[in-house]
Amino acid sequence: MTQILFPETLDQAVALLARHDEARPIAGGTTLVAMRNAGLVDSSHLVSLDRIPGLRGIERLADGRIRVGAMTRHADTAASDLFTGSLAVVRKAAGMIANKVVRNMGTMGGSVANADPAADYLPALACADAVLSVLGPDGAREIPILTYVQDWYETALEPGEILTAITFPAPEDAPSAYRKIARVSGDYATASCAMALTPDGQGLRVAIGACGPGPIRDVQAEAVLHGHLQDPQAVAEFAAALVAKADPVDDVRGSADYRLALIPRLIASVLSDLISAKEAA
Ligand SMILES: Cc1cc2nc3c(=O)[nH]c(=O)nc-3n(C[C@H](O)[C@H](O)[C@H](O)COP(=O)(O)OP(=O)(O)OC[C@H]3O[C@@H](n4cnc5c(N)ncnc54)[C@H](O)[C@@H]3O)c2cc1C
Repeated sequence: MTQILFPETLDQAVALLARHDEARPIAGGTTLVAMRNAGLVDSSHLVSLDRIPGLRGIERLADGRIRVGAMTRHADTAASDLFTGSLAVVRKAAGMIANKVVRNMGTMGGSVANADPAADYLPALACADAVLSVLGPDGAREIPILTYVQDWYETALEPGEILTAITFPAPEDAPSAYRKIARVSGDYATASCAMALTPDGQGLRVAIGACGPGPIRDVQAEAVLHGHLQDPQAVAEFAAALVAKADPVDDVRGSADYRLALIPRLIASVLSDLISAKEAA
């Protein structure tokens, strides 16, 4: 029999997670309840984050950064007008998650904590250089998104830690996009691509999803490509660098070979769209 606990502060939630072995936070419940029903999770206690003030909502900080509370629902992220320019990629990824029911219940914190390799936020967050704020028994700390996923469904979150917020650098005046290849609308990605141009239009940041345990980004290859976005050979070499870092699986959504073939195509097509958007602006 599982007990659901409703702390009213973050400190209470951290203390409850520490007190009960096998306790887990519950946010929107969309993934956790399905996992429980399938017998994949058997927690004695679920610690609801629902009544804790300050965990929901999106705000622009004084220095221009955008802060998203971990309990912010996908629908609110998809509808927010704070994700402009280089951060539009986050809003677009949120709008492509599942369906309206899941977007109205699921939260950014729940999705990031769950770290499904095929989920939509992680590549968007990697492209946008997000920083994760967590609180646990040893206090608060921050985790850069590029060091967050450590293996399949394994993250830098320690047991008992709660993800409290996701913070993005101030949006730049540069186009960004998110594209996912899925079997049907609303399905998890077979492969996905989150991309933003640099404000000078000469470089990019790109992260590939669903082709390994976590989002694939190569900052060094991005630096080499800077200034050569219109050179197909340079773009092909850049894409090959990301393919070399990929570690896809064969599953019901596609074979590993198919996923590897999608990476250069996604990069070329999203890049072409962003260059056109930049030229039209
Ligand atoms: C039918 C269906 C289709 C879906 N399709 C997609 C899709 O296309 N793309 C996509 O990206 N996602 C998809 N999802 C997943 C969806 O985005 C979920 O909303 C998300 O993965 C989990 O969010 P949640 O708030 O419901 O988390 P929960 O289900 O409450 O929790 C998920 C996990 O995260 C932990 N957790 C939750 N919040 C925190 C926190 N703040 N700190 C630490 N740990 C925490 C929980 O303990 C649990 O282990 C789908 C889900 C369903 C049910």
